[in-house]
Parts: sequence; structure tokens; C-alpha cells
Amino acid sequence: MSLPVAFLGLGAIGAPMARHLATDAFTLRVWNRTASRAAAFAAEHGATHAKTPAEAVRGASAVVTCFPVSRDLESLLDGPDGLLAGLSKGAVLIDCTSGDPATSQRIAARLAAAGVDFLDAPVSGGVKAAVAGTLTVMIGGDAATLKRARPVIDAFGEKVIHCGAVGTGDAVKAVNNALLAMHVWSTAEGLITLRRAGVDPAVALDVINTSSGRSNASMNLFPERVITRAFPRTFRLALLDKDVGIAAQVARDQKVPSPLIQLTAELFQAAHRALGEEADHVEAVKFVESLAGQEIIP
Ligand code: NDP
Repeated sequence: MSLPVAFLGLGAIGAPMARHLATDAFTLRVWNRTASRAAAFAAEHGATHAKTPAEAVRGASAVVTCFPVSRDLESLLDGPDGLLAGLSKGAVLIDCTSGDPATSQRIAARLAAAGVDFLDAPVSGGVKAAVAGTLTVMIGGDAATLKRARPVIDAFGEKVIHCGAVGTGDAVKAVNNALLAMHVWSTAEGLITLRRAGVDPAVALDVINTSSGRSNASMNLFPERVITRAFPRTFRLALLDKDVGIAAQVARDQKVPSPLIQLTAELFQAAHRALGEEADHVEAVKFVESLAGQEIIP
């Protein structure tokens, strides 16, 4: 028997995740705000597509959502076409948005009142891991709900980690991405400084990547995207700005002195404003370069 599943939000990472549910194990129905994307996905992958969120989730045991921010999900709950009009009692909603804990907690309470369970389940690994079905998935919610949702999450996730109560998956994701943002920015500053001091950036990376200053940014992002000037668009800077902002808010809520996280949030807000909605997160390096009047080129 195949499991009836709905997937809502077929964006850069949502679409490749949903592809792993278009198999014999699931009966997949999709919905996307821009309907043509859902129609094209359904035609290509043998799924069905729905005209409204309510229609998409009607009869589904599990619903996966993946939007830019938690508020996008919250805004789809109500009204005759909304999720609450279609969700069945006993269903589980797995939200893969990199969301914010407070909104996830509000959504979980609204769903609980309708007999629907909720997990915040943001992912990491990028589009590459989404295509391969090897994402890391960080879960907030109760263990019994996670156990029920595992067959669906396992379809696109390789490492599934239960972080704690609702909202903790979001918090872990936000802090992880704040660290990513710091690494991108600090590596850019470091390489610009070394370039001015007469060191070829490829040589500098060769040293750093076998030394203690290395990170995913220095080992992968800079060699593949910055030194080559390729800057492929896989994860929007706007979304990283949002994530660092969430981390900064969580730190303030928890009354943690966090000057580095707060400063990183300001810097990424400025980079986002300067480079626009469609720029990739690694293009923040171009903003650091513009401040220095110096490009990182070999
Ligand atoms: P995209 O901007 O590529 O896609 C966003 C999706 O959400 C689209 O399907 C879009 O629909 C839909 N959407 C946007 N706003 C609304 C709204 N108000 N109501 C309903 N639907 C809406 O984002 P990504 O797929 O890159 O990211 C999705 C989430 O995953 C984000 O939280 C991001 O931080 C996270 N993430 C992304 C990664 C990546 O590498 N891209 C990596 C890890 C996490 P439409 O087609 O109409 O625009």
C-alpha cells in the first residue's frame, strides 16, 4: 500500500526533495503558489497537482512543506482553500522551511487543536544533497510523531537528528547558517588581506585548507565558486540573511551576549540590500570585495 503524501513549495530545494516521494512507496500530490511549476512537476514525475493547499492535503497522511519563511506556512492555514480546511485528523505536517521557532510553535498549537501533529524539519546539504536524497534533517517535535513521519523523511534525508521540542530544529538550522555566514565573510576578508599582502588566493587556500582556519567555505565554496568566479545560484543570499536574522533573534530571546551573531546579521542584511533578491549567498563575497575595492582573483 502506498502512503498518500502531499508536498507544497516546489522551489530550488523543495522540487528535488519532492522527487524522492514520486515513487511506488507514496501517492504524491503537489501544490505550488505558481501553479505552472506544480503542473510541470506532476507531468514529469507522475504525481498529481492540486489547485489549492486544501485540495493538496485532503486525505494525505503526511504533508511536507518548504517555503522561504514560517510566516508563509502560517498564512496558508486559514480560509476555505487553506490547509486546515483539508487536513485530516491524525495527519502529520513536516515543515522543511528553515523557519523560526516562535512561528513554528504557534503553527504547531493551531494544528494540534485540529488533531494534526507538527514537526519543524529544516534541512542542510544544499541542492546537491537534495538531488542525491542525502540531506541532513534537524527535527523539532515529539519522538512518537517523528517515528510516524520517518518513512517520508527518510526518502530525502540521510541523517535525521531529533533536536528536541517544536522549534529546536529551526534554532539549530539558524545557528548553523549563522556560522556559515561568518565563514563566508571572514574567509573573504582574510583572502582579500592576503591578496593585498602579495599572496595568491589559491596558495592561501592551499595552506588554510590543511590548517586550523579551514571550513566548508574555504574547502568547497571558495575553490569552486569564488576563485572560479562561477558564483552559481543555489541558495539565495536573501534566505541566508533571513537565517542569520533568526539566529540573532533566538540569541536575544535567550538573553545570550552574542556580538558576533548580531554583527553578522547586520552585515548580511547590508549585503542582501546591495545585491538584491536573486543573488546567491556566496555572492556576499562580492560585497566584501566592493568594500575593500579589491577582488579575490588568482
Ligand atoms: P525558493 O525561493 O527557491 O523557493 C521558495 C518556494 O516557496 C517556491 O515554491 C515559492 O513558490 C514558494 N513560496 C514563496 N513564498 C510563498 C508564499 N508566500 N506562499 C506560498 N508559497 C510561497 O527557496 P528554496 O527552495 O531555496 O528554499 C526553501 C526553504 O529551504 C527556505 O527556508 C531556505 O532557507 C531553505 N533551504 C534552502 C536551501 C538551498 O540550498 N536552496 C538549503 C537549505 C535550506 P513560487 O514558485 O510561486 O515562487
